[in-house]
Amino acid sequence: MKIPGMPTCKEVFEHRYDMNELGFMKKMMIMMHMTICKNCQHFQATMHTLEHKMKDSMKKNTSSADQSEIDSLKKRIKEQINN
Ligand SMILES: [Zn+2]
Repeated sequence: MKIPGMPTCKEVFEHRYDMNELGFMKKMMIMMHMTICKNCQHFQATMHTLEHKMKDSMKKNTSSADQSEIDSLKKRIKEQINN
């Protein structure tokens, strides 16, 4: 299903931190995309886990093992998004 004006997964990914600066229509389109896109739903769940992990490891004064684990996870997500 293709809807005109619907952003791609990549666009959604790129706007994840500046959603509030987007226009109403664009924001709606991104939200609509995330509602119907399994990719982005999966991605969001992963990001959520990742952010928790990062906060946790910051509290614990990050070991380098944790950091590389997070980096490889981030890389995996990026690859998924770019496909
Ligand atoms: Zn998507």
